[in-house]
Amino acid sequence: MYSLAFSILFVSFIILTLIVRFWLASRQIRHVLTHRSAVPAEFAEKIPLAAHQKAADYTIARTKLGLVSLLVSTGMLIAFTLLGGLQWLSLHVFQLTGPGMTYQLALLAAFTVISGLIDLPLDYYKQFNLEQRFGFNKMTPGLFFADMLKGALLAAVIGLPLIWLVLTLMEKSGALWWFYAWAVWSGFQLLMMVLYPTVIAPLFNKFTPLEDAALKQRIEGLMERVGFASKGLFVMDGSKRSAHGNAYFSGFGANKRIVFFDTLLSRLQPQEIEAVLAHELGHFKLKHIIKRIAMMFALSLGFLALLGYLKNQLWFYTGLGVDPLLLPAQGNDAMALLLFMLVLPVFTFLFGPLTSLSSRKHEFEADAFAAKHSQAADLVSALVKMYEDNASTLTPDPLHSAFYDSHPPASVRIRHLHAAAA
Ligand SMILES: [Zn+2]
Repeated sequence: MYSLAFSILFVSFIILTLIVRFWLASRQIRHVLTHRSAVPAEFAEKIPLAAHQKAADYTIARTKLGLVSLLVSTGMLIAFTLLGGLQWLSLHVFQLTGPGMTYQLALLAAFTVISGLIDLPLDYYKQFNLEQRFGFNKMTPGLFFADMLKGALLAAVIGLPLIWLVLTLMEKSGALWWFYAWAVWSGFQLLMMVLYPTVIAPLFNKFTPLEDAALKQRIEGLMERVGFASKGLFVMDGSKRSAHGNAYFSGFGANKRIVFFDTLLSRLQPQEIEAVLAHELGHFKLKHIIKRIAMMFALSLGFLALLGYLKNQLWFYTGLGVDPLLLPAQGNDAMALLLFMLVLPVFTFLFGPLTSLSSRKHEFEADAFAAKHSQAADLVSALVKMYEDNASTLTPDPLHSAFYDSHPPASVRIRHLHAAAA
């Protein structure tokens, strides 16, 4: 009875998500098309019509591809759950491995490989057709597959021991397993923040210390003004994969480093780079990063507690197309994890705008910080260049933007910056 109710709830949320996402996408496409013929007045002097139209076409092409990808992933979700895919997979894995931890790890690995293979054609198409068409792709197929293999290997080396630990806790540490698992998970996240910039990212990209002495001096001046210590300024060869430009900083504590994509450095003037960095430092100084981490930890604690409850409910399995009585005795933990990770996004999708809202608030604050510690006008001109280079649309549908975008629309952001400068 409960299981049927849960199936119905699950399907209702899937349908609701599909409707909302198709509706938002159609709004976005219509809005961008309507404004395609003219550059918005406030950008008319800075952005040529051809660039504006390229951004429109790129936005529309990405939105359409997003819908195809949504249909594929929804189909896959239903096939794995209600149509019995996971049940089928678990029985076949079990025949190969026998019971115990090997079965559980193999089930998770098999699922990961299968869903990766299903995503592969679309990922490939995105890189070598869509990105290629708009001049952003700098990858060769060789690099694409090398990245994929490296990523898979890394996921196995790091992921399998972690999952093993979590599954062991689920099995052996009693009713509060979810709390211990949360502690392990949180510790792992912190560890990755240290290891990512120093160990993992260098596996994929080359990081060289920033050499431009004048620029370095300018940036160090800014860091001194705002009171920020860093382990160094690095340039990353982002141009190896993509023409999209960016700047970020990573690590935490004494481990912080600032990273500029070479694509960004080649396009922006020194004072514009300083303004972009001032914005990033704003995120740090205003404690946005700490807040985001704290939020993530709180949410994962809540979700793991929920999983702690669901794991013992028969309807959670049967409602999603899995009969736990057919599974090996200790196999339910891996299955519970899988089901939970698969269906959670369906139920949290509608909360997305809340995340976007809080993120946009932080962006305004970081912009205000940058306006105070560097020049608002420099950040504006840097943003305009970045919008043009990345072919980001200047005219998104307001509702689509409010739902998905982590950053405010360009015009709103720039209006705020001008107000801060005045
Ligand atoms: Zn930001």
